[in-house]
Formats: sequence, structure tokens, C-alpha cells
Amino acid sequence: MDFSIPIRLRIEFDEKTCVGNKACMKQDPSLFKFDSIKEKAILIGAKPQQQDKRFYILEKDFDSLNASRALAAAKACPVNAIQVFDAQKGVALVSNKVDLSSYKEVHVQYDDEKEFVLDPKGYFLIRADHEKKNLEVAFCNEKNKVALKVVGKTPLEIYQTIINKEKLELRADHYAYLGRELQKAFTALQFGLEYVQDNELDLNKKH
Ligand code: SF4
Repeated sequence: MDFSIPIRLRIEFDEKTCVGNKACMKQDPSLFKFDSIKEKAILIGAKPQQQDKRFYILEKDFDSLNASRALAAAKACPVNAIQVFDAQKGVALVSNKVDLSSYKEVHVQYDDEKEFVLDPKGYFLIRADHEKKNLEVAFCNEKNKVALKVVGKTPLEIYQTIINKEKLELRADHYAYLGRELQKAFTALQFGLEYVQDNELDLNKKH
């Protein structure tokens, strides 16, 4: 957005929503800093609201450079904790509202029995270790040949390791499959259920 003249912005920050990942302050350290006790962002100079002491508002004039930085900080927030408004026009420049004014809706178009294609790069073997409460994933790059084994406690840490650290560069649907199976195995561990890869969980079947 191009602001050729100074603009008055109203910035709203919801501390309750903030997850403290510091993305905002990387974009605009003059506007946001980190509260290491609360592990949340601080919107510098903002006032807490009477009705909600963890909701902060800052309204002031910004030159074009600082306005762009403020918008970049708000857009960088992964959890929509920051909203920015043009204070004079009352228009949202970065909003936490979902825009439903224009989108495409599709109905599912996939038949697994007819359309499933094995990933030529390999396949996963997934196990729930009930004794150690671990999730185990082995990746085979040829039949019955394990090339990689990853052990962890949560689906998130395992698939992030596989996707972003090990960089197997598999098909997107293969990673989606991994996430789905890991979540099933994780649920099985939590509730003491039997986990069999590719089968739906049977809530009556205890490990
Ligand atoms: S980017 Fe959002 S979640 Fe992250 S610290 Fe800033 S306000 Fe908090």
C-alpha cells in the first residue's frame, strides 16, 4: 500500500491471542517488542482497554515508511493478534475477519480405490510405541529397506523434522497421509487404543 502523505492508524493488539513468536517485532521493532515474562508481544505506547486489560489500542500518525512497517508487522502475525485501521476513514487495512465475499467452493472429487498411486520415492511405516509413549516413523526408499527412522512425541515435531530437516521432497499427498496417520497413532497412544496403519481407529479395541 502506498501512503504518500502521513496517515493516522489505529492499531489493535489482542495479547490473549498472541503466541509470542516475535514475527511482528522482526518487521517493526519500533512498534513491537517482546515481554520475556509474559512471553507475548508489547505494542509500544498502546493503552489497555477498560473492559479488557489484555486488549491494547494505539492511535497515532505514521509517515509512509512507518505505516508500511506497521502493516507488515500486522500481516506477519500468524494468529491475527494485530489489526490495523485507517483511523480517519474507519477502514480495516489488516483485519482479523475472514473475507467471505469471493471464493470458490468445490465438492470432493477423489476415489481412493481408483486413483491411489504409490509414491515412487518410497513409503512410511508408522508405529505407536505404547510402552515408551513414542511415535515412530520409518521411511523405506525401497521395499523393506529402512532409510530413515524418526522418533518423537507429537505428530507436529515428527512431520516438521521429516519435511523441513530431512527434506525427503515427497509428494504433497504423501505428507498429508503422514500427518493423518501420525494423528491417528497419537490418539491411539493417548487413549490406549490399538493402532494399525491404514485402518480407522476402533474405539473399542484397547492396546
Ligand atoms: S506476530 Fe503475533 S503472535 Fe507473534 S509475537 Fe507478534 S503479536 Fe504475538
